[in-house]
Amino acid sequence: MTNTHPLIVILLGPPGVGKGTQALKIQTMLQIPHISTGDILRTNIKQKTPLGLETQSIIEKGELVSDEIINKMVLGRIAQEDCKKGFILDGYPRTLTQAHTLEKSLDPKATIKVLMYHAKNETIVTRISGRLTCRHCGQVFHVTFNPPKKPHICDNCSHHLMQRKDDQAQIVLERLKIYQKEIDPLIQFYNQKSLLHSISCEGSIDEAFAQAVLYLKN
Ligand code: AMP
Repeated sequence: MTNTHPLIVILLGPPGVGKGTQALKIQTMLQIPHISTGDILRTNIKQKTPLGLETQSIIEKGELVSDEIINKMVLGRIAQEDCKKGFILDGYPRTLTQAHTLEKSLDPKATIKVLMYHAKNETIVTRISGRLTCRHCGQVFHVTFNPPKKPHICDNCSHHLMQRKDDQAQIVLERLKIYQKEIDPLIQFYNQKSLLHSISCEGSIDEAFAQAVLYLKN
């Protein structure tokens, strides 16, 4: 990691697999910003911005926001000064169009690492159904696997933890269906470039992180 070119870490994987938790650990290790498109959209919804008002009902139904809106949002974010040395993308790209747009906008000398997180569907449903999110700072907990120190209170900012509307069982199934449809072309896209590294999330948070560290250090 003595590379002076920007380092772009892309996290792929189904909703609920634990990408957000892993992203925060990777951010601490690499000291580059974590960009979660879901978090940006949820902040906009909370603040009732035009972007939030436009996308709220789509997100609550578990559907994808249009490529046009997402691409504009991400390109704006990665152009900021704090992204000069690199960044971690969590939840983007989710479609082939997004992957092409991202590729065109990156420094050709950038080092790109793609981590593909996977787990069985049963594991994902268990994880999502116990997931608690802080609407204030975005920190994610799990009632069993990663509980907050005080029940339903965020360790980070002491605000109340909630279940996301789109983490309800029926909506999760819709999100997984959309994920299955979109992921194959993305896997192919990054596989052809030999950039994809697969990580099992069946074990603990630390086990998954250890696999990522090995790959990122090479
Ligand atoms: P996430 O927190 O990554 O699960 O994202 C929550 C929701 O935000 C998704 O179900 C989509 O509605 C929307 N979203 C986030 N990222 C994207 C993206 N790259 N493309 C389209 N919609 C997205």
